[in-house]
Amino acid sequence: MYVCGPTVYGDPHLGHARAAVTFDVLYRYLRYLGYRVRYVRNITDVGHLEGDADEGEDKILKKARLEKVEPIEVAQRYTALYHRAMDALNVLRPSIEPTATGHIPQQIQMIERILAAGYAYVVNGSVYLDVEKYRRDFAYGVLSGRNIEELLAGTRELEGQSEKKNPWDFALWKRAEPTHLMQWDSPWGRGYPGWHIECSAMSTHYLGVPFDIHGGGIDLIFPHHEAEIAQAHACFGEAAHHQARFWVHNNLVTIEGQKMSKSLGNFITVEEVFTGHHPKLTRGYPPMALRFLILQAHYRSTLDFSEEALAAAYKAYLRLISAYQRLSQLVSHPYSTYSVQAWRERVFSALNDDLNTAAALALFFEQIEDIIRLYRNEIHLSGEDLETLRNTWKEVLFDILGLRPIEAVQREKWDRLVDFLVRLRRQARSEKNYMLADILRNELRAVGVKLLDFPDETLWELSE
Ligand code: ZN
Repeated sequence: MYVCGPTVYGDPHLGHARAAVTFDVLYRYLRYLGYRVRYVRNITDVGHLEGDADEGEDKILKKARLEKVEPIEVAQRYTALYHRAMDALNVLRPSIEPTATGHIPQQIQMIERILAAGYAYVVNGSVYLDVEKYRRDFAYGVLSGRNIEELLAGTRELEGQSEKKNPWDFALWKRAEPTHLMQWDSPWGRGYPGWHIECSAMSTHYLGVPFDIHGGGIDLIFPHHEAEIAQAHACFGEAAHHQARFWVHNNLVTIEGQKMSKSLGNFITVEEVFTGHHPKLTRGYPPMALRFLILQAHYRSTLDFSEEALAAAYKAYLRLISAYQRLSQLVSHPYSTYSVQAWRERVFSALNDDLNTAAALALFFEQIEDIIRLYRNEIHLSGEDLETLRNTWKEVLFDILGLRPIEAVQREKWDRLVDFLVRLRRQARSEKNYMLADILRNELRAVGVKLLDFPDETLWELSE
């Protein structure tokens, strides 16, 4: 399975969270079903230009220029922030996480093969895929269903302004000016790869061609994924079979019904959801609230984000987790008065129905009342059925849907409370209120928190 990962030039936002959680559930479920999954998710650290087309500044380079740092510092910083946010959301790391800059030879090799097959041309040190030539042998636009006239309408380039033969041709390799910061030697001179070629090169390098599943956000279908399919066919011929056997696309996140964008002021990062530091939020929410909100929508539907929806998701999640805790308190009876097996089968047929996590979760909410009735001895389950019920809750909620049990939620609250008390103590000390500072230190010590004072900050660790 190959999934298009982030272009690492900004804070991970709700769109990143949705894509990562969607494919995390698919990855977890395939593994649960017994498949051995090699999950490759790339990091785009070069070649993704503004506007997703062939003109404009490289997104990483622009950020490096604005922050006055090296491009690799931008890439590493935002890769680390991406990992931190996705770890908090309990998204498993992929098996392989290749970077575009780490796979320049593979990309050059693929471009050479495409040139040798006659589907690309070189102009002034840049290489473009010749879409007209390609269309003589293969269908172009199979994923998006767009025809060439629509493609033409979608390009912003004016005739005669470009070195391309046709506006819908796309760059495989771009010539770099001597001052351009990220550039490599190639058979066509110094330059850097186009955005699309990295995914074709890295996916087929690690997974072969065709591989099983290619995933990404629905906004990547055109031009990115259409370009990937064209590159794979141009390089490997008909045998590429659209590069992947299945293409899976998650839908977008909207904010209160509007498209999320920086210009509308409704751009929300994952960190802002956790801290609540955003004009659209009155408080912070634990990561599981966001994960639950994402799971409550089918991945192919749009997900509308609002604080109201997030708060409702968190409430629902806590209700479900509380029911799970009650499950562990149930006692078995010699016989069952209702069928757990039939319910379990409905849960799995929901998951098997194009990964319908929303329908699966709804079935758990149906169970909550039964769990209370079981607890009150109004209905009964045999030991075997009780075991099946508990296992289904555990396997589906935690192993497949990747939710965390309550201890983790409590732990997050605990950390937040300790952070607050540690800050409060520093404040007290800076105001020379040593009595309050000492009380706080002693109380923290009493609950097993040891303070490590530095001139500029206080860290804490757990101790006896
Ligand atoms: Zn990609």
